Amino acid sequence: MNYRLVIVGPPGAGKGTQAEGFSESLDIPWISTGQAFRDVLASGSELGELIGSYINKGNLVPDDLTDRLVADRLDQNGASNGFLLDGYPRTLDQVEALDRMLEEREAPLDAVIELQIPDEQIVSRLLNRAKVEGRKDDTEEVIRHRIDVYHAKTQPLLDVYRERGLVVGVDGMGTIDEVRERMVANFEKFMAAEGRDAE
Ligand code: AMP
Repeated sequence: MNYRLVIVGPPGAGKGTQAEGFSESLDIPWISTGQAFRDVLASGSELGELIGSYINKGNLVPDDLTDRLVADRLDQNGASNGFLLDGYPRTLDQVEALDRMLEEREAPLDAVIELQIPDEQIVSRLLNRAKVEGRKDDTEEVIRHRIDVYHAKTQPLLDVYRERGLVVGVDGMGTIDEVRERMVANFEKFMAAEGRDAE
């Protein structure tokens, strides 16, 4: 099935890791705005420098840049062939922008996966990741700011999707395998309740 999915979760919830594995198992493209931005940043271009000025401080990249990136990626992959959007939308305005993109492409969302972990877990997980990956936005100060940004700007969009009956909650605590299995099980249950089979 060509599912069209979004995954939402606080920084450090394991979103990227789980999104990559889950999209592979469903055979749909994984579209990570954070990863795409980091790639542009690494290219050292002028656009990369601009993007770095936001992400290195834990601030959101402006919507116009972000929306354009996602529209491009949806067109490259053919939106109706399915996708897993990781890290987008992140604001209520981006929800509206995505609604418009998907309406134009006649490709409505099937589900929004919410990866849940308590705030106090986030900082220690991200400080550990900093040691492994060396991301500039994984310092304690920037992490705390990213958590605030998540609560203020991103969490409200879950209410919008919940009202639409799209949210599949997944407890993000445990090993990568445990969370992956939980995600698959909850997604299959959700799809079955919708009268659709998740293969
Ligand atoms: P992530 O890899 O999802 O944690 O994203 C890393 C950083 O990329 C974020 O802290 C933001 O600075 C930027 N970013 C990723 N996705 C978005 C988005 N949808 N809107 C704005 N900024 C984003």
